[in-house]
Order: sequence, then C-alpha cells, then structure tokens
Amino acid sequence: MESAIEREKTEHTAGSAVYMRVRKVNEAGYEAALLGLSHNKKQCPEKMEAVARRLADKDGGHNKFLESIIVWLDVRAPRYWWQEADTFRLSTKQSESTMHTLSGELLAVNLDDADAVAAFLEANFEPDSCSLETLRAIHQAAVRQDIVGVKKRLPEGFLQTRLWCMSYRTLRNIILQRRTHRLPHWREFIRQTLEQVEHPELLPGLVGE
Ligand SMILES: Cc1cc2nc3c(=O)[nH]c(=O)nc-3n(C[C@H](O)[C@H](O)[C@H](O)COP(=O)(O)OP(=O)(O)OC[C@H]3O[C@@H](n4cnc5c(N)ncnc54)[C@H](O)[C@@H]3O)c2cc1C
Repeated sequence: MESAIEREKTEHTAGSAVYMRVRKVNEAGYEAALLGLSHNKKQCPEKMEAVARRLADKDGGHNKFLESIIVWLDVRAPRYWWQEADTFRLSTKQSESTMHTLSGELLAVNLDDADAVAAFLEANFEPDSCSLETLRAIHQAAVRQDIVGVKKRLPEGFLQTRLWCMSYRTLRNIILQRRTHRLPHWREFIRQTLEQVEHPELLPGLVGE
C-alpha cells in the first residue's frame, strides 16, 4: 500500500498541487476507556470491545468513552489549512516557529543560487505558493530584523508543522464535519490519520471508500 509519507505532495485538484503530511507520534487510553465503559455497563472489561464498537457512533452521551482515547499527530500543512483546523477548540497544538525558519534558515540561503532557492521553496512552501519576488522581500525584511515585514509578507502556502493532540471524540467530530469538505487537504488529513490510528473501527470512515 502507498504510505502516507509517499503521498505528501501528490494530491492535485484543478491543477493545483497540495501538501499534507500526518505522522502519528503517540496514542494512549484505549484500555482505560474500555475500563471506564465497563464501570458504566457493570460488565467485565473483556466484553467491552464489542460494546465500544457498537456505541462509537452514538452521539449525545453514549460515546463519551471516546474522550479517554488520546492521539498525538505531527502534521505539516499550509497555514491556510491550519487556519481552518484552529476552529476545532477541544484539542491542543504546539507549533513550529515561523520566525526561526525565516530568520534562521532563509538567511542562510544564497538567493543567487537557483538550486538553493528551489530547495528552500520546496521544503517550506506548498508548490507555486511563493514567488521569487516575495521570497526576496521576506529575505530583505529578515536581514533588517523587521519581524512585521517578514510576517505580513508570508504567503498562506507556507508549511508549518504542529503537534496536534486530541481525543477520538474530537477526531470523530472533525471527520464528520470535514470528510466532504471542498478543501482537498481535509480528505487527505483524514485518510492519513485513519491509516495510522490503532482503532479506526471506532471512527467514521471517508465517504466513497
Ligand atoms: C456551514 C458552516 C460554516 C461555518 N463557518 C464558520 C466561519 O465562517 N467561521 C467560524 O469561526 N466558524 C464557522 N463554522 C463553525 C466551525 O466550522 C466550527 O466551529 C468548527 O468546525 C469546530 O467545530 P466544533 O465547534 O464542533 O468543534 P470543537 O470546537 O472541537 O467543539 C466540540 C464540541 O464542544 C463544544 N464546545 C467547544 N467549546 C465550547 C465552549 N467554550 N463552551 C461550550 N461548548 C463548547 C462545541 O459546541 C462542540 O459541540 C461554520 C460551520 C458550518 C457548518
């Protein structure tokens, strides 16, 4: 099967290449969640796997055990996608510093070296999202240590990595709300996440798969 990493930049919609990379770094709580469910049902924990599968899609309180299963996802995606992801409040994120990339790594790039510029753009921006003219303007602002000048010129296609920690309950909510979203990153985020979580049977699937 094609891995999530091989697919990082392969999605193309209406001629535009998009970028999304999800790596699950940790997952915890399944056994504890089933223990909690067994208290609730007054049954032995061994029988709870089947009960959990039956209750996983019963919103309105019955699937509260999903809140006890936590997953940590390391996600690299353009900032315009993060802007949408930030509307999901019941989770926490730790993000890569934009200023470190731009005032550290960018300043080390020789802008007259076409290969170095191409490598920097490929590593830090979604394809076709940052022109050479914009990169030069950001570079000049970084040289002047003009933080506002750097930030306000940064294209929305700038790739940022964040560690996103959430429960299966939040993940379920995200999948239901975004699996048919017109921004293709959402479908790719969900696809890569479902490939890596330990219990996809407790989560909604992608539509049409
Ligand atoms: C058609 C459409 C258009 C939208 N357009 C916009 C838009 O333009 N701008 C915009 O900001 N949002 C918009 N939204 C809402 C946005 O999509 C949701 O806020 C986002 O998807 C997060 O969903 P959520 O609230 O279910 O998730 P979460 O924020 O993860 O919340 C999960 C659950 O916890 C509850 N919750 C979270 N925080 C609190 C709290 N403080 N107090 C009480 N309950 C809480 C929520 O009600 C929800 O039931 C739109 C939604 C739709 C359907």
